[in-house]
Amino acid sequence: MKAEKKCRNCGSSSVSEGMVGSGHANVKNINKNLSIGSKLFVTFCINCGEVQSMRVENPKKAL
Ligand SMILES: [Zn+2]
Repeated sequence: MKAEKKCRNCGSSSVSEGMVGSGHANVKNINKNLSIGSKLFVTFCINCGEVQSMRVENPKKAL
């Protein structure tokens, strides 16, 4: 997915998407221990590191 956002911190349009939780840091429903969990994607500015947005890969798995 191509992110075409401008950094709200420095104005750079050089943003990239990273992934949080390829291992243990998956997003899970706070009330369900047996939730499968889902990876979290973070869109961040390459220039200053400001995080633009976060997105759960598969919201249904995190329920
Ligand atoms: Zn920036």
